[in-house]
Amino acid sequence: MKLKLHWQVLIAMFCGAVVGVIFQLVYNAKPSGWLYTLIISLGTIFIRLLRMVIVPLIFTSIVSGVSSVGKGKNIGRLGLKTFFYYMITSIFAILIGLMLTNLIHPGYGANIPITNDFNPENLKTPGSPVQILIRMIPLNPIKAASTGDMLGIIFFSIFLGVVLTKVKPQTQDFLKKFFDSSFEVMMKITEFVIKLLPIGVFGLIVKAVSTAGFDLFKVVGKYMLTVCAGLSIHLLIILPLIFYLFTRINPIYHFKAMASTMITAFSTSSSNATLPLTMRSVEKNVGVSNKISSFVLPLGATVNMDGTALYECAGVIFISQVLGLHLGFAQQFIVVLTALLASIGCAGIPSAGLVVIFIVTQAVGFKDVDVGVIIGTMLAVDRPLDMFRTMVNVFSDSVGTTIIAKSEGETNLYPELKK
Ligand code: ASP
Repeated sequence: MKLKLHWQVLIAMFCGAVVGVIFQLVYNAKPSGWLYTLIISLGTIFIRLLRMVIVPLIFTSIVSGVSSVGKGKNIGRLGLKTFFYYMITSIFAILIGLMLTNLIHPGYGANIPITNDFNPENLKTPGSPVQILIRMIPLNPIKAASTGDMLGIIFFSIFLGVVLTKVKPQTQDFLKKFFDSSFEVMMKITEFVIKLLPIGVFGLIVKAVSTAGFDLFKVVGKYMLTVCAGLSIHLLIILPLIFYLFTRINPIYHFKAMASTMITAFSTSSSNATLPLTMRSVEKNVGVSNKISSFVLPLGATVNMDGTALYECAGVIFISQVLGLHLGFAQQFIVVLTALLASIGCAGIPSAGLVVIFIVTQAVGFKDVDVGVIIGTMLAVDRPLDMFRTMVNVFSDSVGTTIIAKSEGETNLYPELKK
């Protein structure tokens, strides 16, 4: 009997949680031993395999996809739609975070232990989000690829894809075939890696559960619940509504198509590492063409982070409440704006959302020394929140891609619907 991939992954997740709790209890959140090392290595190996394929996959996928979209005008139209989708959904998410933290007041009475010797310097983000546009242009595309500079790779690949449509037909034919075939091979590698998904998820969940500092959860439980409530509203109400409004398709189909990708995002806490899976699910299960998905998804993994945007806003309001400060309308407006920028500038890697929170705290005038301890505590309990917000980030990318594909006239979506 062959179980569907998402069932296998769900079972792996459940088993991982059980084994993680056992390790947590036996070793008091500091597990060790050969068996433990072996199990968590499974997760590490899986993430390394995914990361191995990211750069060649997005490079060949974007060049092949963009060169099929053809004219600059089409790319411009796709770009505009993508931009609007990213902005609007992120702002929705931020407003949910703002509303909930103002209603629930998770920061009042949070008894944060001030004894942590936490150094905020270690968490500083390089560069400001205002420079993102400039930073997108890589000085050296090969270096961008070797350092995993996603925006640099994306910029160069889109450029190359567009120019490919402007060279003489002979050259165009030859290179197009080359990139199309390379992309096919990269997708094949991805397929192989995905076969290991249940094993990887098992290792990752064991690690996350066995090392969680449950004591601190009690101190900041209300804050964690507030963020989770906000993320749930965005994931289960707002995004499905937007999806239905633009596609007229039952969102359940989309959740089904994206199930294993969402679990991967949850277990890896990284939109980037999940990208190969997101692309495969959106193309194979949803049925979106590579033309659209190769343009919208890699950009989305780095730029569109609804969960992170919500978290930035909720996190800063929480900090202000712990400090006993009341933020006025103007300051809350600054929080909304900078939370959006921070989510755009945030890398799709674990805990990056907490790192960029300094952009927002500084914008409202908090000093690093004052907020350092609070952010240190937030860091200690960040993992589960990071898992959840990454899942929302990735899901939003996939919804955007489907909406844009539909608006571009793609009709072969959800093969299940046709049965
Ligand atoms: N881990 C998140 C992601 O990769 C970013 C964050 O920390 O919020 O999407």
